[in-house]
Amino acid sequence: MSIRISVTSKLDGIRSWSLQAIETCPASLESAGVLVDACKGCYATTGNYNYPNVKAPRAENKIDWQRLDWCDDMVAQLDSDRYFRWLDSGDLYSLALAEKVLEIMQRTPWCNHWLPTRMHKFPKFRMVFDAMRSLPNVSIRFSSDSVNGEFIEGLHGSVIGADAATYSPIKGSKLCQAYENGGKCSGCRACWDKSIDLICYPAHGRKMLKVIRINAI
Ligand code: SF4
Repeated sequence: MSIRISVTSKLDGIRSWSLQAIETCPASLESAGVLVDACKGCYATTGNYNYPNVKAPRAENKIDWQRLDWCDDMVAQLDSDRYFRWLDSGDLYSLALAEKVLEIMQRTPWCNHWLPTRMHKFPKFRMVFDAMRSLPNVSIRFSSDSVNGEFIEGLHGSVIGADAATYSPIKGSKLCQAYENGGKCSGCRACWDKSIDLICYPAHGRKMLKVIRINAI
């Protein structure tokens, strides 16, 4: 086993470490078998994410992180990275995994880490997330379950809305403008910026727009 890194076209070549969506996302359920709205339209369950060459590394990572020397190997992997995205798919489903990710963040102060998650719903993760948040090189963003721009101030660090017009200016927030730049970050690094409390994402993808339409009926 070895570490499998992914690169998504959106993020200007910034690298990620990811897991398979849904099966590592216990916080994606609002009740047995029912996904929260934001996860019903998840981009990581459609399109390219269904290809075997995309699924296989995510499945391998789920086993690989349990190795004793995984943290050492990840720290070495990040030697030249100045920005890193955790989990462009999947979530920190295990407290032991979260503790290892914290160790990697602590041992790579030269690298800015962005970690979006819904695992804040489980109180046992609170201490490890507090420790991540205290690091100057870590932006941890608790995702709102809404697709209509609803969020809890002081808790959520990102939210989805139907389109850019959904968001009247919200203090301390940043509207993601990747949609104006061919779907790419194009130099924006707001998601890594700890001084920005909330990132507002206009919905993207047909599946997400369908969820929003169904909600509106
Ligand atoms: S807010 Fe900026 S960094 Fe975050 S996804 Fe959008 S363009 Fe990229």
